Amino acid sequence: MKPEIKCRNPEELKLELKQMGQQAFRAKQVFRWLHQGVTSFDEMTDLSKDLRTQLAEHYLLTAPEIVRKQVSKLDGTVKYLWRLHDGNLIESVFMRYKHGNSACVSSQVGCRMGCKFCASGIGGLVRSLSAGEILDQILFMQKDTGERISNIVLMGTGEPLDNYDNVLKFIRLVGDPDGLNIGQRHISLSTSGLVPMIEKLAQEKLQITLSISLHSPDNESRSSTMPVNNSYPVEMLVQACKNYFDITGRRISYEYAMIDGVSDRPWQAHKLAKLLKGRPAHVNMIPLNNVTESGLRASTRKNILAFQKILENSGITATVRRTLGPDIDASCGQLRRRVESETVGSE
Ligand code: SAH
Ligand code: SF4
Repeated sequence: MKPEIKCRNPEELKLELKQMGQQAFRAKQVFRWLHQGVTSFDEMTDLSKDLRTQLAEHYLLTAPEIVRKQVSKLDGTVKYLWRLHDGNLIESVFMRYKHGNSACVSSQVGCRMGCKFCASGIGGLVRSLSAGEILDQILFMQKDTGERISNIVLMGTGEPLDNYDNVLKFIRLVGDPDGLNIGQRHISLSTSGLVPMIEKLAQEKLQITLSISLHSPDNESRSSTMPVNNSYPVEMLVQACKNYFDITGRRISYEYAMIDGVSDRPWQAHKLAKLLKGRPAHVNMIPLNNVTESGLRASTRKNILAFQKILENSGITATVRRTLGPDIDASCGQLRRRVESETVGSE
């Protein structure tokens, strides 16, 4: 199997092209073309025919195929289902905000973390995505929409910190001025709470926003929906977040799914406030997206507002996330599962 050329950073390309007998500046040309989303080496018109042939012999140039695309009539959110070169399916979402376009990308095919409320985890982990495959989602959404993406959230399918090296490489690739030039302050990474990996990430001293999928302030209810909590309980996770802030100076954002009767009780709001007090934190409350298989239901509007009020009265900033593209299954994992079961069903 040939290596994927889009996994290469400029230094690696320079070195490898040098080994092919090329001058250093060629690497920059190739890198620029790649990050414009070309689908064939022949599109690199300022390279010699010879070099293009040589590149095609050496490398795999990935280009995911759009299997399905859903456009929300309500807010213009676009959800993509892609087929990768090995036939696997992944999802991404393109979102329009006042401050620019945002992309929600997947980091794995499936996920091994097994959270009960999540459609992505149902079939387990198939494989991790390469840095180039994560990047491709951005490149080809830009190409399809004809619009620039300025913000990235790693909140699609998969646990980014379970694919640590490739995700880190992706973050550095998109920041390259010869590529997409998207700075780390415009990137959010969401994790279910792999504590040793959060500690490792802190040492990288990145400027990205770290989002923690907390979803419950107590071990009993968190363990009931998130198996990862059995290995890394709430106290350990929050301590790792505090250390992360001390090392990086970056405020942590906490995701909190409002699940009826599981995570939305007033005492849990008080417990959450106590847990986060004294550190810059932001709580992002997400009304649960109903996943039929889970048996869990979204909290009522009344309970969501009551929960938010308790947090705010305790000095914790909490916002209720606007649901984007509610008419198109815009939460990740749902489309892939639907299409896979349709395919299975029709065979
Ligand atoms: N694996 C990472 C990132 C991808 S999931 C993580 O878990 O953080 C992105 C976010 O969507 C996470 O906060 C996740 O807990 C949340 N999520 C998953 N399924 C959901 C559902 N049915 N309703 C609301 N949020 C959900
Ligand atoms: Fe994986 Fe995140 Fe879904 Fe949990 S919520 S199963 S960690 S993708």
